[in-house]
Amino acid sequence: MDYTPEDEVLIGGQFEKLLESCGNIARSDDDWNLIRKAFFLAKEAHKGVRRRSGEPYITHPLAVAQIVVDEIGLGVKSVVSSLLHDAVEDTSYTVEEIEAMFGPKIASMVDGLTKMAGVFTTETSEQAENFRKMLLTLSDDVRVILIKIADRLHNMRTLGSMPPHKQIKITSETIYLFAPLAYRLGLYSIKTELEDLSLKYRFPEQYEEIKQKLHLTEVARSQFIGSFNGPIEQRLRESGIDFEISGRVKSIYSIWSKMQRKQIPFEEVYDLFAIRIIFKPSPLIPEKSQCWHIYSLITDIYKPKPDRIRDWVNIPKANGYEALHATVMGPQGVWVEVQIRSERMEEIAEKGFAAHWKYKQATISQDEDEFDKWLKKVREALNSPTESAVDFLDNFRTTLYTTEIVVFTPKGESRKMPMGATALDFAYDIHTNVGNKAIGAKINHKIESIFTPIMSGDQIEILTSDNSTPKTEWLNHATTAKARQSIRNYLKKHKQHNVENGKEIFEAKLKEFGITPSARVFRKVLSAYESKTKDEFYSKLGAGIISLEGLDKVLRENAASKMLKFWTIQLANPLKIFGAGDKRRGQERPQTINAEEPDFTIAQCCSPIPGDNVIGYKNPETGKVDVHKTSCDELTRLAAQHGDRITSVKWSSHKAMSYLSVIEIRGIDRIGILMELAQVITGELDINIREMHVQSHDGIFEGTIAVYVKNIDDLNLVIGKVARIKGVEVVKRHISK
Ligand code: MN
Repeated sequence: MDYTPEDEVLIGGQFEKLLESCGNIARSDDDWNLIRKAFFLAKEAHKGVRRRSGEPYITHPLAVAQIVVDEIGLGVKSVVSSLLHDAVEDTSYTVEEIEAMFGPKIASMVDGLTKMAGVFTTETSEQAENFRKMLLTLSDDVRVILIKIADRLHNMRTLGSMPPHKQIKITSETIYLFAPLAYRLGLYSIKTELEDLSLKYRFPEQYEEIKQKLHLTEVARSQFIGSFNGPIEQRLRESGIDFEISGRVKSIYSIWSKMQRKQIPFEEVYDLFAIRIIFKPSPLIPEKSQCWHIYSLITDIYKPKPDRIRDWVNIPKANGYEALHATVMGPQGVWVEVQIRSERMEEIAEKGFAAHWKYKQATISQDEDEFDKWLKKVREALNSPTESAVDFLDNFRTTLYTTEIVVFTPKGESRKMPMGATALDFAYDIHTNVGNKAIGAKINHKIESIFTPIMSGDQIEILTSDNSTPKTEWLNHATTAKARQSIRNYLKKHKQHNVENGKEIFEAKLKEFGITPSARVFRKVLSAYESKTKDEFYSKLGAGIISLEGLDKVLRENAASKMLKFWTIQLANPLKIFGAGDKRRGQERPQTINAEEPDFTIAQCCSPIPGDNVIGYKNPETGKVDVHKTSCDELTRLAAQHGDRITSVKWSSHKAMSYLSVIEIRGIDRIGILMELAQVITGELDINIREMHVQSHDGIFEGTIAVYVKNIDDLNLVIGKVARIKGVEVVKRHISK
């Protein structure tokens, strides 16, 4: 099937636009010829193929090429490779032929992109392994990844025409990997757009609500910004500075994550915007000094918050970002963030990697900068054969989203660590052997636990002992990829021994009780001891991390509360599971549907209750569908790695059962408050409390209450009632991390 006249008009227009954008990068006739040749080849290759939206397929490579030149700022070779990125697969052209036509560099980029082509379409193979393959191309040519990000961006922009379960898979991958990657490569606006689009398709109502509210508050906000900026503009102009000032509203996604994280409504998000000042540097004074000069002019007008200065001018972020951020007290007692950057810093912030290299080449700096260091770390990680693909991906991801702090060794040498790092991470950063033998740390000359989080400016000395070895527990306190990987490597080496040891201990204990090990026993034990697999349980036991004290209780207790863990949920798409409404053993699925045994497990990471938006994950280990909240981080991780196991579920309305849910409380302590809490919940509301953990210190009490509720309305009722108790300041649903 040939292109219709309408197609030709559409395609021709898009190509014209691309050529226009290439005006800045195409230097010679050769360049123009390459671009034209690639376009015609791709157009021919995709003839007769349409996208889900109905548009001819060639519009996709054209759009990707457009993003690559306009939004990422790459050159001719990248534009050509973008045009060809899906072509080799669909034609009989070989990489050799591409090389003959376009030269070796483009051929190898197209090859890299082609190898990745299958990565996101496979339904069956391990997604994590595919990601790893994709990331391997990072070590050859970063441009390949940048084009892949452009490819993803265009697919996200056109996601509306995909069916819902595909949308969940694609948005999860985007949130889990592509947005962090874009951030890490310094592509701020692309990262923001990827996040916003993910939110838009994943939680359309919440997205629209925030968008609406931003719109409604716009007038008041711009008035405020105007009155805030006025005095600054005047002062900077008087000082002869050439600058632009603007108020930037935060992205919908970042507002949404703040609301989630802090569990607050939109109205309580105060830092909805930041002020950005971009100046044209005067050639005689270093940019750095000019940033501080502007800072000092602004703080003559508005008082700064002393602990909120972010100096990424002296110490750029690892992704190359440079700027000076300050928070100052504006009119009406509102804190306002001000970002100060030069034009060069602005370009790096917007276009990231590509701009970064442009300036780097201009200064012919031979120094290894932060970016090179990171790439080197990624290459090292990729070459590490000991890790499974899933571990690798999780580890890799931790290297993406980090803000750094600067700490010092006893000799005063500075080291960058990610925010939230602990002394243990620092120990491993010094050397694997220092980490493996660490027993404590002297932080600013005071002895502290090795698990202590470290802060910017800390001076840290690691205390070691030859008798110390890494424990599994350490994984809960290690945050850097390097530390986690080293600990895992060590434990893996010693694991087999522990597994055998643990198995022996466990079997002996069961014998004592006269119980034979069964699937039922393991289900109880694994959940009680927070182990995902038998091996994990055995090895924790063998390593002495857990003890079997209270095992009898675990076996009994769980039997009684078993029903509370499993919930009857009706699938949104019954055909898929039951097969034409047939509730007998489904022939189309390996999963057995048994009326006695519930088919769903409530995920403990997010503990959804009826009324929450939920999504199912077909757990291959249990053969059941795990039910997660749609907002669950763990679900996002799973969906990104095994998108094909995601399935829609919805709560059935006919079962009246109780679900465990935890609320957090905090308030002013007074005599009798606990009694009153219990009275309100169990007495007035007739809701069962499973556990109450409340601590009191300095006149403040805080803690958690685990209650059994029927649904979200019940829970909200509890929260509402408890909030009205005198002395209670904060009460909210607990979200486990
Ligand atoms: Mn594509």
